[in-house]
Amino acid sequence: MREPGIVPSGFSAGELVTFLESRKAASPAAPVADRLQPGSTPATKPSPSTPEGSTSGDAAPTVDPSSIGYEPLRDAALACTRCRLAEGRRHVVFSDGNPAGRLMVVGEAPGAREDATGLPFVGQAGKLLDLMLAAVGLSRADSVYICNVIKCRPPGNRNPLPDEIEACAPFLKGQIRLVAPEVLLAVGSFAAQWLTGTTRPLGKLRGEVYSYEGVPLVVTYHPAALLRNPGWNRLCWDDLQLLRQVMDGS
Ligand code: SF4
Repeated sequence: MREPGIVPSGFSAGELVTFLESRKAASPAAPVADRLQPGSTPATKPSPSTPEGSTSGDAAPTVDPSSIGYEPLRDAALACTRCRLAEGRRHVVFSDGNPAGRLMVVGEAPGAREDATGLPFVGQAGKLLDLMLAAVGLSRADSVYICNVIKCRPPGNRNPLPDEIEACAPFLKGQIRLVAPEVLLAVGSFAAQWLTGTTRPLGKLRGEVYSYEGVPLVVTYHPAALLRNPGWNRLCWDDLQLLRQVMDGS
């Protein structure tokens, strides 16, 4: 079998599933009960300060994103100018997948392709995410809802700034409240840290089951990071097995 690193061009779902499943025998996952972190529900989210120049309070929507219905929430996001990222965006990237899905995947922020299409996780990283989900029997077509912490592309793909995160957070909170997923999967350190309310590196966070306001939360690497670091493939497989166990309730 070819040892992908992790996704060669022209890869197929079967290739990745075969690859990932080969890791199962090599690295059986521990029982979920051994990994649950009692009391790990984040008591608070990071409380970023609002630096000078913030626009987060200047153009607040007339609706409260944390308490409205799904379509009004989406409409509010699509028209949002709460932070400076509205200025350079082509599209607000709100979500993809099924709002009735069992799993919600949360990533970081749109990149160039996402900004151009208005959809999260497109391109090679998106394909890899789809294959990761397929490897554990999930699909954005029917069982998965996908979104990001930040809905508009930071210029040059820079990291979102604290005031931008603060301005956008009500949309993600609203999505989690309205979609009410059975399980959350944070991909990448940014989403993992936000949802766990910590600043620990992803390598220290992964491998455990957390709780975000009562919703089980598993974290793993961002597909784009996996594309750059094939050495993390095995760890990702372990995380996906943990996710599967949580979803199966085992
Ligand atoms: S990133 Fe979020 S808060 Fe900022 S303009 Fe876009 S939707 Fe609004």
